[in-house]
Amino acid sequence: MNPSRKTSKNTGRKSARGRLSAVLLTLAAVLCAIVLFGACNEPSLPSPSTPVPVYDLDLSYDGGRKALLDGELLYTNDTGEELTSLAFHLYANAFSEDTSSPPCLESERADIYYNGDSFGNIELSDIKIDRKTADFELNADKTLLTVRSAVAPGGTVTVSWSAEITLPECNARFGVTQSGVNFTGFYPVLCMYDDGEWCTEGYSPVGDPFFSEISSFHVTLAAPTALVPAASGEVTSSESDGGVTVTEITAENVRDFALFLSRDFGTEKTTANVCGSVTDVTYFYTDDADPSATAALAAEAIEFFSSAFGAYPYPSFTLVQAHVGAGGMEYGALAAVDPSVKDEREHALTVVHETAHQWWFGVVGSDQINSPWLDEGLTEFSAAYFFLRRGDEQIYTDSVASARACYSVYSRLPDEVGFDGRMDRPLSSYLTAGEYVAVAYCKGLLLFDTLLSLAGEEKLTAALADYYAANAFSVADGHALAAAFSRAGFDAAPIISSFVRDTAVM
Ligand SMILES: [Zn+2]
Repeated sequence: MNPSRKTSKNTGRKSARGRLSAVLLTLAAVLCAIVLFGACNEPSLPSPSTPVPVYDLDLSYDGGRKALLDGELLYTNDTGEELTSLAFHLYANAFSEDTSSPPCLESERADIYYNGDSFGNIELSDIKIDRKTADFELNADKTLLTVRSAVAPGGTVTVSWSAEITLPECNARFGVTQSGVNFTGFYPVLCMYDDGEWCTEGYSPVGDPFFSEISSFHVTLAAPTALVPAASGEVTSSESDGGVTVTEITAENVRDFALFLSRDFGTEKTTANVCGSVTDVTYFYTDDADPSATAALAAEAIEFFSSAFGAYPYPSFTLVQAHVGAGGMEYGALAAVDPSVKDEREHALTVVHETAHQWWFGVVGSDQINSPWLDEGLTEFSAAYFFLRRGDEQIYTDSVASARACYSVYSRLPDEVGFDGRMDRPLSSYLTAGEYVAVAYCKGLLLFDTLLSLAGEEKLTAALADYYAANAFSVADGHALAAAFSRAGFDAAPIISSFVRDTAVM
């Protein structure tokens, strides 16, 4: 996500952002990049080592607030353990009237629910295991589905369902927005299995409460022809008949699947040269005075991060302008930027930040609920670093200064208001979005800026490229990050630990 970077304790709402004028690469930056970045010597990442979950989703959308979803998940038990159940998040039910885990803070409701209160949900029926009626359980607010089934290590199982989806009217990740329709988290999402159990923590009004396995998606969408779809992955066919267009979409080995629709989408296409092969970049926009510059910036970021950290692994990248309730939001092979971001520099930072999430969240996953600094801090740093190496040192300097000011204001809060600088704590412990921004984003960026200062640029980029390759299509934690630095010849463990445990003097 990319919330605003305000320094008061009770913020997190987006600020006005816009586009950045193109800045020419300096010769020095190019030469430096050639010397430093060797990641393109290994243009392709290894495929996931075990069969990933495969979703087949058949989504039929009426163009209003209703959709029908027939879905099937083919799951191979790669946990090495005997499983007795599979657990799924039903994120759409966080948007229901009786949810215990609402998708936004009370203070944000007026902004997000533009027509007043509105609710949505997913109602499942016909849940089956291997084509037989399943024994299942829903938790109290129906945000967690547990399907009982014995699955031996290496065994496979098919879970299928039918569902009726109701979309809320809101400018959030799931709903009918003021500029289109957001289908994210709309399908039953298999929970992450970690340390002998399913990670079942639910929705949170603060942060990105998602932690999922790399999966593949085969999606068939039937929707009114007037609506242009922007989705994770590649469109493999599209046929229109009688005002309805059926679109087939495939997204392989992505963290999750997102779909946005709008009758107002313009499209801007370009390509990125990823270590010698071509990645298609498509920007779907509703309100952008210079869409070609935005698409070019995303492509440039993909090329840069591929050189610096390791190759972008997908044939395509989708950038979409959509109301998501924050400055931006990341998904598998797709990034969303909010049209409310008008300021040029903030728009550019948001585009690059959300693109960088393809490396930190997408390919290398992490526990965004309990260690949100790991993807957000590294993504904030990566975006600032992109501008530093692009020859715009001022943006890097300003980003670090802003993060320092943001964290400084937070850290001076009186104890009774609840200052807590520890970074490995769950989203549920954050009282405000501002506190979350200060700890995960601002302090997270300061950690990586400190590592850059102490380890030097060569070792830092070597460590991050190693971290990317070693954890691609899997999940990593702070120990994996420290291990990558160690292999690059720098002992980062004490620094990471002192930031995370809040024993560092800031
Ligand atoms: Zn983010």
